[in-house]
Amino acid sequence: MIWQCLRGGTVYDPSHGIDGLVQDLWVRDGKIVAAPADESQAKIVNHDLSGQIVMPGGVDMHCHIAGPKVNRARGFLAGMKGERRKQTASADAAPVVPNCIATGQLFAGLGYTTAIDAAIPGLSARLAHHEFSLTPFLDKAFLTLFGNNHYVLDKIRTGEQEAVRDYCGWMLHSVHALGVKIVNPGGVENWKQISRKTLRELDEPVSEFGVSPRQIVHSLAAAVDELQLPHAVHIHCNNLGFPGNWETTLHTMQSLEGHRGHFAHVQFNSYAGDPNDPSSFASGVENLVEYVTTHPEITVDVGHVCPGEAMTITGDAPFAQHLQRLTGSRWYTSDTEQEASCGIIPGEFKPYRNLVHATQWAIGLEWYLRMPNPWQVAMSSDHPNGGAFVKYPEIIHLLMDRNFRQEMISRMPESLGERCPLNDLDREYTLNEIAIITRAAPAKILGLSSKGHLGIGADADITIYSQQENITEMFQRPNAVFKAGELIVKQGELLQKQTGQLLRPTFEYDATSLKNLQQWFNENYSIRFGNYHIGEEESPCNVQSVS
Ligand SMILES: [Zn+2]
Repeated sequence: MIWQCLRGGTVYDPSHGIDGLVQDLWVRDGKIVAAPADESQAKIVNHDLSGQIVMPGGVDMHCHIAGPKVNRARGFLAGMKGERRKQTASADAAPVVPNCIATGQLFAGLGYTTAIDAAIPGLSARLAHHEFSLTPFLDKAFLTLFGNNHYVLDKIRTGEQEAVRDYCGWMLHSVHALGVKIVNPGGVENWKQISRKTLRELDEPVSEFGVSPRQIVHSLAAAVDELQLPHAVHIHCNNLGFPGNWETTLHTMQSLEGHRGHFAHVQFNSYAGDPNDPSSFASGVENLVEYVTTHPEITVDVGHVCPGEAMTITGDAPFAQHLQRLTGSRWYTSDTEQEASCGIIPGEFKPYRNLVHATQWAIGLEWYLRMPNPWQVAMSSDHPNGGAFVKYPEIIHLLMDRNFRQEMISRMPESLGERCPLNDLDREYTLNEIAIITRAAPAKILGLSSKGHLGIGADADITIYSQQENITEMFQRPNAVFKAGELIVKQGELLQKQTGQLLRPTFEYDATSLKNLQQWFNENYSIRFGNYHIGEEESPCNVQSVS
């Protein structure tokens, strides 16, 4: 039996209150373990980490790395001309939507070992699993879309909450998903099938179904809590991207009425301003932070934006259409029958020239800096919507170094200060707080009990950094990364390739109320029941239960 000892590193493990303590970590069979009873009798591989910084592997809880929408976005990159094509297609530059292999390589190179795709329709689960099996190094999971699902809307209309709950359980089990996602509740369906109009008000019903966004959010949040899923309902609110939408976000938080809820890429839903004036963007963060802070059942990931290339990949086709009309870009949309939509638009954030982009950039940072409790906030760029995940080190640098923030602000439009109070925020994140928002908090929010910490029994996913003056560089290039106890990155070089695990929750559900589900589908759609059922034996990834 071989033991590994990571000796003398300075450990940041916020889940156990360890904030820069020099200690040894013992690893065996892919897990963190206690030291052997008698070291002299054990076969030990030693790694000397003195003077280096040790953290759990990074966890990206909201990104887009698989499924049909991501492939369509890759298609856009293939069609780019001139300079932009050179940037995205050259071997030494990371494309904003990398292929499966490069996605795993780039995440691992950054010290991230777990990533969650936040929006897969049940019908596309097979493709997502196939792509996960091609994405090396990472442990992976996805969330499945329910907020515009016809069966869900129908059962909310008839008041059959137990059918909503059982359907969520059956679907997650069938497609091997981690959790329940809502995108623009009701608004997608209203736009897709009925009127080409999204829903702007939380109590405005989807015409044919007669149920409102408020009812959809409340019912699905209740279903997730009734099933005791490890991760709360994961919500992309109505009115994403519109000035003035902070009030919609607040009302959506209130509609939970005590149920747990996670609010995705909240930066895009925190705007003050006039909904009818696209240039009136300003920050509406303060009131939302106050509400979240006084409601521990609510968490957020930020969805910050970075200067440079981005790609809108969204299940919110009405928003994509709105953005297309604003920008005049090429776009793509599609309909997943009875379940979902998608919208894709290539783009670029230019905060040095564009006041709206500068305001969005500042609002993302404002969220991180204003949240008193870092355990309620996770780092995300909603990759690649706010820019690629490879830019996370720059955001970490901005959070840790007020001078660096001011230097960037000074290059942006002068009136930014009137739109967002970022320049007034003095806070600088500590390494411990960075470890919280990039690993410990997202793992905890997802309910991944063996991720995001370094206690006994944790997966031995470990990232080693050397302290450097330039924080961006320090986080761009970890010294070493261990995945399930194996060294996968050393001095920036990728070593042996692992497939990684599929992360699934363990939970129980009762399908009794679904006995007429096949008949319901037969009467209403061309979809066959069997399209959803992936089956244990067919799963292309190794399966690991999340307890
Ligand atoms: Zn997203």
